[in-house]
Amino acid sequence: MQNFIPQRVYIEPAALEYPLGKHLYEYFKSQGIPTKYTTSHNRVVGIPGKTPPEAFREAKNTLVIGIRKSKKFETCRPSAHFQLPLVTGCPGKCEYCYLATNLGRKPYIRVYVNVGEILSIAKDYMEQRKPEITLFEGAATSDPLPVEAYTGSLKKTIEFFSDQQFGRFRFVTKFTNVDSLLPVEHKGKTHFRFSINLPEIINTFEHGTPTLEERLKAAEKVSRAGYPLGIMIAPIFLEGSWQDNYFELLKTVKKFISDTPLSFELITHRFTKRAKSTILDIFPGTQLSMDEEKRRFKYGQFGYGKYLYPKDLINEAKEFFMENINSLFKDATVEYFV
Ligand code: SF4
Repeated sequence: MQNFIPQRVYIEPAALEYPLGKHLYEYFKSQGIPTKYTTSHNRVVGIPGKTPPEAFREAKNTLVIGIRKSKKFETCRPSAHFQLPLVTGCPGKCEYCYLATNLGRKPYIRVYVNVGEILSIAKDYMEQRKPEITLFEGAATSDPLPVEAYTGSLKKTIEFFSDQQFGRFRFVTKFTNVDSLLPVEHKGKTHFRFSINLPEIINTFEHGTPTLEERLKAAEKVSRAGYPLGIMIAPIFLEGSWQDNYFELLKTVKKFISDTPLSFELITHRFTKRAKSTILDIFPGTQLSMDEEKRRFKYGQFGYGKYLYPKDLINEAKEFFMENINSLFKDATVEYFV
């Protein structure tokens, strides 16, 4: 699929003091892409779009170049100890994007040019926690791969972690432009994961992302480059003939990747009231299953609750995935099922 090309770019003036900021500014100007200044990457004004679907589409075509100032990383359970923020947002247009609740109705894409400073904060966390290994997640607030061709930030981060005794890096993607990362020195310290789903789910809900087959071909390349490889299946819809469909999906994964010990992360579909209202605004005709009556409500940590599938169904699904993964994949690990 075609690489992400923004239709407009905003940059914080201070980002020009960093080599990456200067390079990006000059590059996008040379490509004839309208490039303007913004006082803050958190408050960008002037992105067009009168209706919520228009505003969403325009934001997804907008790249903002800024500096990440906070010296603190958020925690990131269950996949890691901390988020490692290189990018916020993603040009994909998945209807159930997990960023919908946080980024709201104008989810523009931000890249941070002070990668060296961000990595030195990571180093401080590792120092504080050693000799325990600290895990950092590079995809907690984004899919970082679509902008990699411009920033090279994943490459830099992978190289940085290859020399860390007490830290590991991981990120997950639905995108397939992996070639620039294949020759990078990783020393097995970056866990490269692909997020997949049933082909019909991808076609219906994951607009602007590669197909299942493209993702699995990219995963196979990544595995040949020696990276520890993982598969995330999310969100899992427990509807219709879900057992048959997800069994087929697991068999398809096996066809592409049969001789690598895989990790699996399994996340059943859930939604919050706020995400539902954002999704209905942006995709008024959505076919997403979001009927509160058919779900179990669970209070969350921050005052808003989630609608999950009923407990019995979740238990049945957990058993189904554990059994089939163990029988189909040698040396597979299931990191979590939620
Ligand atoms: Fe969101 Fe991931 Fe889809 Fe991007 S690819 S829109 S981050 S779910």
